[in-house]
Amino acid sequence: MPPPPDAEARRAVRPVICYPTDTLPAPDMALYGAALETAEVTATHIAAPREACCFEVPAGQFFRITCTGGPQVGDLNLWNAADLSERFYSGKTRALHGSHVSTGDRLWSSFPALRPLATVVRDDLDWYGIDAFGGSVHDVIGTRCDPYTGRLLSGSDYHHCCHSNLTRALADHLGLPLAEAEPHVHDVLNVFMCTGFTRDTGQYFMKSSPVRPGDALTFLAEIDLLGALSACPGGDCGAEHTSDSAPCFPLKVEILRPAPDALQGWVSPSRNAYDRSHGR
Ligand SMILES: [Zn+2]
Repeated sequence: MPPPPDAEARRAVRPVICYPTDTLPAPDMALYGAALETAEVTATHIAAPREACCFEVPAGQFFRITCTGGPQVGDLNLWNAADLSERFYSGKTRALHGSHVSTGDRLWSSFPALRPLATVVRDDLDWYGIDAFGGSVHDVIGTRCDPYTGRLLSGSDYHHCCHSNLTRALADHLGLPLAEAEPHVHDVLNVFMCTGFTRDTGQYFMKSSPVRPGDALTFLAEIDLLGALSACPGGDCGAEHTSDSAPCFPLKVEILRPAPDALQGWVSPSRNAYDRSHGR
């Protein structure tokens, strides 16, 4: 369509932030950080390359995802351990905190609970910021690599996509058939992945992750959590993500319990207080 005479004036309207976060209840990061200093590892899980693992974290304890053998991206799902219908809501997390998360940001749960499931307490990649391409790490804009999109685009079946890895791991953990586990798998936090949108075409892009062995992303579990982490078949996601061609490494998940009273004053968040009458 030909642009209207006032096209430039309309384009020049300044944006406003959709969800200013100054009224969002803020986590006490000094308390969280001090509690993390006292925490000891109580369990360790490994997501093998092109596989996923499940883990449980009691409310008020930490979980830490660590890059081990080489640059590797992880796809994270989180659920309320007592009610799988409450799960990580990447879209609302994105609306509140932006396209990528880091220290102090929270992973929010689905409606109607809409509460923090976990808070990022420490991010060893927080130095990265936003690069010249508009890329950053730990995005909540991607979905997860999956065999359906692979089929659509390449016409072939690949079974070790993160969606399938998470489905198998959850099925094994809960003792469910694959068909019952699969609907619980949801859009992920792309741990360590470096992504953005191209400025000229607006397309989702990825580039080699800046993560190196020893780097970690650490969360406080705000409620009792069940988690699943897939070591993406894309490895560092510098080239492609739906094949066995990329070098791929394990990811470590550790559960850490803080010293008693180290989180004094912290309270596990309640479900959202909206009355759900929807105007009726
Ligand atoms: Zn993946």
